[in-house]
Amino acid sequence: MLIDLHTHTSPLSWDSFLEPDELVERSKQSGLDAIVLSEHDASWDAEEVKALSKRHNFLVLAGMEINTEEGHILVYGMHKYVFGMHRVSELAGHVDESGGIMFQAHPYRRQHPWNWESEKEWVNAFERSERNDALNYVHGLEVLNGRGKINENQFAQILRDRLALPGTAGTDSHAVEDIGKCATYFDADIRSEDELIDALRNGRYWPLDVTKGEVTKNEKYWEVPQDLSREFSDLALKRSLLSTDPEQQATERLTLAENSVKVIQSISNK
Ligand SMILES: [Zn+2]
Ligand SMILES: [Zn+2]
Repeated sequence: MLIDLHTHTSPLSWDSFLEPDELVERSKQSGLDAIVLSEHDASWDAEEVKALSKRHNFLVLAGMEINTEEGHILVYGMHKYVFGMHRVSELAGHVDESGGIMFQAHPYRRQHPWNWESEKEWVNAFERSERNDALNYVHGLEVLNGRGKINENQFAQILRDRLALPGTAGTDSHAVEDIGKCATYFDADIRSEDELIDALRNGRYWPLDVTKGEVTKNEKYWEVPQDLSREFSDLALKRSLLSTDPEQQATERLTLAENSVKVIQSISNK
């Protein structure tokens, strides 16, 4: 099933132009199976979100997008903003306590280089992103953001490959034209927040550009891979190699850095 893991509504998110009912109805029409409302530093009331879901006969869940010193973090399974959450370690403590899970939103923001032509700047940008303290706490990265530019999403994808972390997709909808562009495909049938968290932690999922080209030119994200289990076991293997073998890590990073610069440059030149 297809779930949009990142959306904003008015008035809970000050910068959104979307009425909740409109977002839900249009998400449903666009072929999605569920959405998560991830308002900025705020959560929906459980009863209100249930009523919204019922009104449209469509699964709507409430998460949050927390603004931290290390960037925006998408949180699932926590429903209250507490002062201090702008520090990512403190946020992680609260999320752990509530049994939730965290993903780094649009990891390219404030990280990608200003000069797209400079190879050195690209390598520096990746290295800087990899030092982000949030990575010590998140389960994965948002590799497709519906409002990100093609090369910004490309940056996130390369970062995901370099770190061998699971990736998600979300539209980050703030306006009608954002709705339904991308979504996370889940192999499981998800009917509740607990099932969503469980699937994000253990399951098989894949970030999907529903438009096949507006969110990413990387065709890998236009279709769900034939063997998702294989994708996930390969990813886990790579992750463990990266964490246990510094030499492998160094070689891998260097190759990836060189490749990533080439890929990004070829895209930005188009
Ligand atoms: Zn954000
Ligand atoms: Zn957002």
